[in-house]
Amino acid sequence: MINTHPTRCNICGGRVTYGSNARVYSREYGSGYCYLCERCGAYVGTHKPRPREALGLLADEPMRTGKKMCHAIFDSFWKGKPKAGKKRHDLYCWLAHEMEIPVEGCHFGYFDIGQLRRAYIILRGVQHKQMKYDNCGNIYFEEAEHEAG
Ligand SMILES: [Zn+2]
Repeated sequence: MINTHPTRCNICGGRVTYGSNARVYSREYGSGYCYLCERCGAYVGTHKPRPREALGLLADEPMRTGKKMCHAIFDSFWKGKPKAGKKRHDLYCWLAHEMEIPVEGCHFGYFDIGQLRRAYIILRGVQHKQMKYDNCGNIYFEEAEHEAG
């Protein structure tokens, strides 16, 4: 699992300090705090109810872009859908299985750049397919049916 109180940067090994997130945004935002690498500028936000706890790994620009690209596809399968919370949970289980990682570690915020790339390739593969449930309640994807005519 990831270190929720990082002192060393997971990208460059630089010193990480905890403080106001106005250091990375122009004003305080969300929990108001973040962990910031003094060397490369990678950072991670913290939980609002537990502002000392990092949300994931420190991320640089390529990781932030990777996360956005993954979420754009991933979220399209559950956001605003019936039983959204269950679908989101089941999608993380499906993705963990596809990536051969434990489901507890299956969160885009926990992924390094290599895992983000892998996740994106997997998600791209199902982007235009239909999400379905099998008889055991597991998610699978099927080619979308084309409209007749
Ligand atoms: Zn760093």
